[in-house]
Amino acid sequence: MKKITATIAIIFTLYSCNKEVKVVEKPIVKASEKAAFSIVIHGGAGFIKRDNISQEKEAAYRQKLEEAIRVGYNILNNGGTSIDAVQNTINILEDSPLFNSGKGAVLTNEGTCEHDASIMDGKTLNAGASAGTKTVKNPINLARAVMEHSPHVMLAREGAETFAQEQGLKIVEPSYFHTEKSLKALERVKASENTKVASFFDADIQNSKFGTVGCAALDKHGNLAAGTSTGGMTNKRWGRIGDSPIIGAGTYANNNTCAVSSTGWGEYFIRGMVAYDISALMEYKGLSLKEASKEVIQNKLPTIGNGKGNGGIIAIDSDGTIAMEFNTPGMFRATMDDKGTLYIGMFKD
Ligand code: ASP
Repeated sequence: MKKITATIAIIFTLYSCNKEVKVVEKPIVKASEKAAFSIVIHGGAGFIKRDNISQEKEAAYRQKLEEAIRVGYNILNNGGTSIDAVQNTINILEDSPLFNSGKGAVLTNEGTCEHDASIMDGKTLNAGASAGTKTVKNPINLARAVMEHSPHVMLAREGAETFAQEQGLKIVEPSYFHTEKSLKALERVKASENTKVASFFDADIQNSKFGTVGCAALDKHGNLAAGTSTGGMTNKRWGRIGDSPIIGAGTYANNNTCAVSSTGWGEYFIRGMVAYDISALMEYKGLSLKEASKEVIQNKLPTIGNGKGNGGIIAIDSDGTIAMEFNTPGMFRATMDDKGTLYIGMFKD
């Protein structure tokens, strides 16, 4: 009997993994009725334009975004939790050198990789975060371990690494994270700094700063979760920590409102408390997710720091409605709904 049940379970899992996926050109953001589950991811916002990305690169990004979101989709489709979906989806992006998180993280001024991550459970408002770690292979796993196995919300640097070891998380040599791309980006940014002619709005600088990854999900049990993982910003110094590990700025989730993951120039996302602000506008002003996201990303954020507050968010509300709002030329993003409809986007249109 046990054998038959196990066989049925395997067939079911295989079926749900290979189930025909419908790919659409425009995202389905409005759940017509309450969606059973839903998932959205980002791979960073920034100077992502059709004319500065080759077809091969575009295909590589599409392939990785699809691989990642399918992992979360399968977990949710099989009745798994939104926290599991968020963590496992982010793991795929962290392991890819394409994005600024895990392997492929940008370099600090000293040429090291320092990772920040956070995760939040919308049902319990439990949260965990880690900042400035150099050896933890998947920082989102550390954030989750902080949430579930420590009495704290945020751990940093050596202490966080000791905790990660104690938790049996995978530890790697710092060199594992380094890529040629990040090294070139650091050289470019340092050269620009020296000539003093570059501004943040130069494509080179923009390109070198973004690429954080994040995920928000609603599961079949009606629970929301969000997570974010990043290497921060190229050429960061003095132990700089961005918005990504800060609950309320880089990540927020609350079953009463929404789950949000941010990406962009962290200093302004911290000052704007972006992720929480979207939730607060829904909670206190009754705005829809779309209205709240638009208000924060298009109207409020650019006014902080004289227009330097650029970036975007992905979010889901308790009905499974999705928002993907950004004020940069592009944002790597993908969504999947409970019907298996897949959308992948990069550019504004
Ligand atoms: N928000 C991140 C940071 O400032 C960077 C990014 O989203 O790419 O650390």
